[in-house]
Amino acid sequence: MHKLTILGATGSIGASTLRVVEQNPDKYSIVALAAGSNAKKMAELCRQYQPKYAVMASTEAEKQLRLLLDKDNLSTQIMSGTEAASHVAELDEVDIVMAAIVGAAGLLPTLAAVKAGKRVLLANKEALVMSGQIFIDAVEKHGAELLPIDSEHNAIFQCMPKEIQAQLGRCDLHQHGISEILLTGSGGPFRYSDVDSLVNVTPAEAIAHPNWSMGPKISVDSATMMNKGLEYIEAKWLFNAQQDQLKVLVHPQSVIHSMVQYKDGSVLAQMGEQDMATPIAYGMSYPNRIQSGVKALNFADVGELTFMKPDFSRYPCLKLAIEACYQGQHATTALNAANEIAVDAFLKNQLRFTDISAITDSVLSKIDASVSRYDVLDLESVLEVDRMARNYAAEKLSG
Ligand code: NAD
Ligand code: MG
Repeated sequence: MHKLTILGATGSIGASTLRVVEQNPDKYSIVALAAGSNAKKMAELCRQYQPKYAVMASTEAEKQLRLLLDKDNLSTQIMSGTEAASHVAELDEVDIVMAAIVGAAGLLPTLAAVKAGKRVLLANKEALVMSGQIFIDAVEKHGAELLPIDSEHNAIFQCMPKEIQAQLGRCDLHQHGISEILLTGSGGPFRYSDVDSLVNVTPAEAIAHPNWSMGPKISVDSATMMNKGLEYIEAKWLFNAQQDQLKVLVHPQSVIHSMVQYKDGSVLAQMGEQDMATPIAYGMSYPNRIQSGVKALNFADVGELTFMKPDFSRYPCLKLAIEACYQGQHATTALNAANEIAVDAFLKNQLRFTDISAITDSVLSKIDASVSRYDVLDLESVLEVDRMARNYAAEKLSG
C-alpha cells in the first residue's frame, strides 16, 4: 500500500489525483491533504478521505475548516502555513507526494518532499522554473525520485530510455541518440483569433481552454502560451536539454502530448485523451501501469492531427520565457513571479490580456539590469529575486 500526501488537493490536479486513488483503493491511501483557502472543498475532502492531516495556507482558512468540521468527529489534525505543508510532505509514513500547489507558493513544500527523498510527482512546474539547478541538485543529493506530471514532460519521459528516466536533470540526450525534444502545445483558445483583437480578451474567454480543463492560472498561461514557455524551461531542467535539442510545436488537437526525435530518424510520441489522470496514474505506478479511469483514445473520432510553428507575435510570452531560459536563473525566477502577479491582475479585471507580456517584459529588464545570473545560486537569492520581481510588477500595475 502506497501512502500519499497531496499538496494542492482542492485544485484540478488534486481532484484528478484523488480520482486515480479511487480507481485503485487496494494500492493507494491518503495520509495528508494540503490546500490554499478553499476550506469548504477541503472539508468535503476530509469527510470523504479522512486524512490524518489537513493543511490550509492561512490561519484564517484553518479556522474556517475547523468550524466546518466541528460536528464531524474526525480524527484529522488541522494545521496551516508553509511549514505545516512542508511537514506533511516529509512525513516518514508517506512515500509519494503529489506537488500540485499552483505557483511559487508550492516551492518550499515541494522542496521539502524532495529533501525527504520521496517519490515526487511534479505538477507544480513553477517550483522548478523558479529554482532550476537548486531543485535538480536537491533531487540528486537526497535521492528523491522525480516524476514529471505535466502532460508534455510525462510524455517525453515515457518516450525516453530507462537510463535517462533514472537520471533526470543529469542525463545526456546526445549519448542516447536523442536529437530533439518536440514540446507540443494546443496554442490555447486564441490560436486562430486576429492578433489585434487580443487586447479585448476577457478572463472568461481566456480560461475557456479548447482541450483541457484546468485551474484558472494555468488556463490563462495556456492562452498566452506562457505555459509553454514555463514548460520549455521545465524541460530544459528535467532533461538537461541544450538549446538546439528543444523545440516548441503547436498541435491544436492535443492528442500527441509531446515527442522525442532520435538521430536515426525515429520519432516516438505519447498520445492519449486530454485527461491528467493518465500522467498522474503513470507517475503513481511507474514503472508499472494501473487503471486511471481514462477512456481509450479513438483515432477514428480524432480524424486529423495538425502541426504549426508558434507565432511569437501572437504569443510574446513564449518568446520572453525562451529568452529568459538562456539569460539565467535570475531571469526565469523573475519571469515566473511577474507573470503570476500579471495573471492575477488580469483575472481580477485590473489588466488587459496583452499587458501580461508587457508587465513581464518590463520586470525582466529591470531584474536583468540589477541582478547578475551568478548571484542566484541558493534558495535565499531565489526568494529575494522572486520578491523583487513581485514588487516591480506591483509598482508597474499601480503606476
Ligand atoms: P488549481 O488552481 O485548480 O489548484 C491549485 C491548488 O493549489 C489548490 O488546491 C489551491 O488551494 C492550492 N493553493 C493555492 N495557493 C496555495 C498556497 N498559498 N498554499 C497552499 N496551497 C495553495 O490549479 P491546477 O490546475 O490544479 O494546477 C496546479 C499545478 O499543476 C500548477 O502548477 C499547474 O501549472 C500544474 N499543472 C496543472 C495541469 C492541469 O491540467 N490542471 C496540467 C499540468 C500542470
Ligand atoms: Mg502541460
